[in-house]
Amino acid sequence: MIVVFLGPPGVGKGTQARRLCQLLAVPHLSTGDMLRQARGAGTPLGRHVAEFLDQGRLVPDEVVVSVVQQRLRQPDCRTGCLLDGFPRTLVQAQALEEMLAAEGHCIDRVLELTLAEEQLVSRMLQRAQRENRADDTPDTIQRRLDVYREQTAPLVARYAANSLLRTVDGGGTPDEVFARITACVGKGSVG
Ligand code: AMP
Repeated sequence: MIVVFLGPPGVGKGTQARRLCQLLAVPHLSTGDMLRQARGAGTPLGRHVAEFLDQGRLVPDEVVVSVVQQRLRQPDCRTGCLLDGFPRTLVQAQALEEMLAAEGHCIDRVLELTLAEEQLVSRMLQRAQRENRADDTPDTIQRRLDVYREQTAPLVARYAANSLLRTVDGGGTPDEVFARITACVGKGSVG
């Protein structure tokens, strides 16, 4: 099963994505995690993307597409995967469809998590204290929300048009949100 997670920064995508991956027994492909890892390891890719990450700007499409393309070729993705944080632009969405089609696959479900902007900001500020993420400062938080609204939110209409989209309220406890998510992918909640 191939699932795409869409949602603004701070909505809790990462936490929910990890849980859903366990339930569906598919790997979790978080482009944010992959890029942060590359930066931490100081690889050429990591050095190239560091500035984008720190400023809360999107890494260029061709760079992210190539990272995802290589990851999708790994054997553990044969049974499917959960894409968290990709695609984030229409160009990436198109590239993903082409990559999948080349292997005879397609997206099975797109889950959009939503939450009011004030709550997103307060969750990100809490995370900044907990995890010390360089891109969770007030300035970059605002930029990432703007980037989401301008470049990623338009994908919602694309996926709604082909009936792949399910919109899930990201408010409440993580368990409440997860119960809503599992209902959308046709799997009962475990544990
Ligand atoms: P995330 O952990 O998903 O919030 O991503 C953190 C940062 O990684 C973003 O603010 C971007 O700088 C970069 N990033 C992650 N995924 C993408 C993507 N699909 N396209 C461009 N940049 C991305």
